[in-house]
Amino acid sequence: MPQAILPILTNLLVAAMFVGAFLVTAHTYPMVRRARWFALAYVFGALEPLTNLGIWLGANVAAMQTVGFVGFLTALVTMALALSHYHRRRPMWACAAAILVGGCIWRIATIDVARGGIWYQLSFQSWFALGSILCAAALRRHTTPSLLNRCLVTVFIITALHFWAKAGFAIALGTGMTEREFAGTIYAVISQTSSGLLMIAAGLLIVASFLHSVVRATQTEALSDPLTGLPNRRAFEQWLKVAQGDGMQLPLSVAIIDVDHFKHFNDRFGHAVGDEVLREVAACLDRNRPSVSRAARLGGEEFVLLLPMDPQAAFLVVEKIRLAIAQLAYKDTDPITVSIGMATMEGGETTSDLLRRADRALYRAKAAGRDRCEIDSLDPEAASSVARPALKLVARQ
Ligand code: GH3
Ligand code: MG
Ligand code: MG
Repeated sequence: MPQAILPILTNLLVAAMFVGAFLVTAHTYPMVRRARWFALAYVFGALEPLTNLGIWLGANVAAMQTVGFVGFLTALVTMALALSHYHRRRPMWACAAAILVGGCIWRIATIDVARGGIWYQLSFQSWFALGSILCAAALRRHTTPSLLNRCLVTVFIITALHFWAKAGFAIALGTGMTEREFAGTIYAVISQTSSGLLMIAAGLLIVASFLHSVVRATQTEALSDPLTGLPNRRAFEQWLKVAQGDGMQLPLSVAIIDVDHFKHFNDRFGHAVGDEVLREVAACLDRNRPSVSRAARLGGEEFVLLLPMDPQAAFLVVEKIRLAIAQLAYKDTDPITVSIGMATMEGGETTSDLLRRADRALYRAKAAGRDRCEIDSLDPEAASSVARPALKLVARQ
């Protein structure tokens, strides 16, 4: 048996395993359904070892040569298109078509040319090198520069260089007098093994990037509230944990925002309208908060705002939000109002203490008639000095 048959068979099996892996991944995780396009690239890629086997088994040489060459070039071009498609960008159709059509014309024009010459070998391998460069270019253009993507770009660049290097090896080692002798050459072993290894490296990195996308999406989902799209209580608790772990950056104020009489609102207009109101309130909160702040839905009709600012500045922000929400009215419902409890972190205090005080202030805001912001301060003098000038400002608006 010719010595290259083993790596040729191995490549065929590896390509088949990647086709299976991509299809199973696409089926299991609907968010990476586009993985099917990579399976198609590996199906085309499998044509190359398959036609080599065909030649060894005595099939028509010219037909096998053409199918093998066009199949492998199509595999590389499909890979580039799949990378763009996967990252939801417009594929580089013109470059892909130019490489594929150019390669096909070259193959037909040179089918009877002697295969031993350097120019033949260089031009033969250059089409595959161009296909690999297209994959690297698609990645560079369409993805964020993460470690995973950088590794994949590097693999495609190495793949391109390895095709050109193979032209040199082909001349130095010889590719056999005829296509049928090819599988018996040492060059065929080197060629099949090196291409196979690079095919595995690219496939593994692509599978890793699918898993990365799935994990990231799951994390985002676990930390966001499905109704309003805001971060949820779990995300808020993580922020606090990180803030506490990093050594608290002061000043830090927290405001708990609770929709007034929401139960009554739900009872009167229905749960669906209630949900719409919660979405409106969340959007209004998000629109009117400063970019340095963070907002989350704590649960039910309760939201929270983390403000890295002193009580004076935080109070102005919170009052602006309260007034903006008071302008909301869903269709012909009553105006929507919120009560807010605010507290600013004191030295030596924990985040739980801070939240407890903000909650206490919210309770006071409810008891005092709702549609207002109350501040909890360890120093009552300080609290009134914050509230009074700010309320005057509000009254003038
Ligand atoms: P208060 O002014 O004292 O805050 O009164 P309230 O009615 O707003 O407060 P209460 O805690 O009595 O009721 C909260 C209501 O919020 C009860 C619950 O039906 C409603 N609610 C909680 N989560 C959701 C939700 O996701 N969608 C809708 N539509 N309603 C919700
Ligand atoms: Mg409420
Ligand atoms: Mg509540």
